[in-house]
Amino acid sequence: MKIHFYICELLDYGVANGLIKEDDRFWAANRIIDELGLTSFEARKTNKTRKTKTLQNLPKYPTEILAKISQWAVENRKIKDLPIERELLETAVIGSFLQRPSDFIAKFNQSSSKQGIKTALCNFYEQEKRVYYIKVERIQKNIVWKTKTKYGTFDITINLSKPERTPQEIIAVKELGTSALSKQDYPKCVLCPQNEGYAGRLNYPPRQNVRLIPLTLNNEHWFFQFSPYVYYNEHSIILAERHTDMKIDKKTFARFADFLDKIPHYFIGSNADLPIVGGSILNHDHYQGGNYSFPLYRAKTLKTFKLKKFPKVVCSILCWPMSIVRIVGQKKDIVGAASHIFNVWKSYSDKSLSINSYSVDDKKNRTPHNTITPLAKMTDGKMQMDLVLRNNCVSKDFPDGIFHTDPRFFHIKRENMGLIESLGLAVLPGRLKNAMEKISGRLIAGKIDEIKKDKETADHYCWAVELANKYKFTVKNSQDILKKEIGLAFVAALECCKIFKDTPAGAAGFNRFVERLNR
Ligand SMILES: [Zn+2]
Repeated sequence: MKIHFYICELLDYGVANGLIKEDDRFWAANRIIDELGLTSFEARKTNKTRKTKTLQNLPKYPTEILAKISQWAVENRKIKDLPIERELLETAVIGSFLQRPSDFIAKFNQSSSKQGIKTALCNFYEQEKRVYYIKVERIQKNIVWKTKTKYGTFDITINLSKPERTPQEIIAVKELGTSALSKQDYPKCVLCPQNEGYAGRLNYPPRQNVRLIPLTLNNEHWFFQFSPYVYYNEHSIILAERHTDMKIDKKTFARFADFLDKIPHYFIGSNADLPIVGGSILNHDHYQGGNYSFPLYRAKTLKTFKLKKFPKVVCSILCWPMSIVRIVGQKKDIVGAASHIFNVWKSYSDKSLSINSYSVDDKKNRTPHNTITPLAKMTDGKMQMDLVLRNNCVSKDFPDGIFHTDPRFFHIKRENMGLIESLGLAVLPGRLKNAMEKISGRLIAGKIDEIKKDKETADHYCWAVELANKYKFTVKNSQDILKKEIGLAFVAALECCKIFKDTPAGAAGFNRFVERLNR
C-alpha cells in the first residue's frame, strides 16, 4: 500500500532531521498508523546504500510528505476534504515525533549553556519549521518589499500566509455551531499554555507540534514560544501563565528588563492594552519578541531632553510617523523612568489637540483613553525603551478613532495599528494581491472606470485616479509604482495615529507634555 511508503518517507525525514533516532522507527510508525486508523505497518526493505541516498534526497520541510498522507486519508474516507481536517491530521501525524516538553526543555537548556542562547533559539526556531508548526511554504507566499519614506526605509508585507476559510469549511463550522464542541472553552484562548499538545478541532488549530520554554519574569511564571505566523525573523510570543487581561504597568517594564537579561539579542514589545489602539487579543497578557532589526531602530532623533527624577537617562523624541519618547540607560533607571512617563501620560489631556485621557459616563464611571505601546531592546550594554503614545478616543467625525487610520486609507489597511506597525513593518491584508494585479492592468490600459465597477477594486478608485494623474503607467513600471505608493499610503495611515502631529501646534503640544514630565 502506498500509505506504507509515505510513512517510511516520513520516518526517513524524521531521522534525517534529528526529530527521531533509528531506534525510534517502530515506535513512531505505530503511533502514526494509530492516527491513521490502520492496524498494521510494513516497512520498506532497503539496503544501506539506498538508505543513505534516500536520506540525502529528503526535503527540508515535511509539507509534501504530509500532504500525500492527508490526500490518502481523504481518498480512503478517513477525513473530509477540508483544509482544517487535513491540518488536524497532518499535525497529529508529525506530532508523533515530538519529545515530551520536559525532555525538550532539558535539551534546550543544555544547548543554551553549551552554545549560548543565540544558537539555542536559532535551533529551536528551525525545529518549529521542521515539525510543521511554522509553515515555511505558506510564509514564502507573502509578498515582501521595502519602501523609502521621509522617515527612512519601511518594510512592507502583504500577508498571504493565513489561509482563508473555504466555503465548505464555513458550512462545517456553522454545523458545529450548536454542538457542545463549539461551546467548549478549553483551551481558553490560543495564547494559553494549555495549547501545548492540544489536538485541535474544526474551529480550533491543532498544537501537538508547539513547544514552550518557561521563563521567570519579575518573579512570575511566563512562557516563550514562536509565532506560527512569522512576520519577521524568530517572531516570538511571550505569554503569561494565567489567562488574564492585557495590562501595561510598572511590572510590564520590569518583565522587559528581565527578558533582556536572558535574551539580550532580542527586542520585546507589548501591544497597547486598550481597544482600537491595541492588539487583536486583549484577554491574555502577552508580548512579542524577535531577532530582527526594525526600521524604527534606524529612526533619526528630533531632540533630546532630561528627566529631573532620572538624570542619568537619555530621553529623545524621534522623527517617526508615531509620537515616541525613547529612553536609554541602566535597566533599573529605565523601568522607573518608563513608569513615570506612562503614569503622566495616562492622565494627560490637551483639549486643543483632542487628547482626552478619560471620559465619564452618566453613572460617573471613568473610562481611560490614554495608553502606550512599549518596546525595548539592548543597545551598547544599555536598555533602550520606546514608548509610543496612544489614545483611543472616538468622536462623531471619527467613529473609528480620532488617532486611528483615516477612512480614506481603509482600502490599504483598516485593522488596528499595533506594535509591529509602530516598528515600521506594515502587515497588509491578503486581499491587496488580487486588487493590485487588477488595478495595475487597468492603469496600464487606461481603463480607470473599470476599477470603479469591479467590487474587488472599487474601494481603491479615488487612490487610483490620483496615481493616474501622477504617473504614466507601463508594463515595466507599474508594479514598482504600486508597491511604492502602497508603502507611502501605509505611512500616511500611521501618521493618522500620531498624537502630536508634524505641525507647529503638534510640536508645541509635544513640548508641553515634556514639560509636564518634569513638573
Ligand atoms: Zn488564554
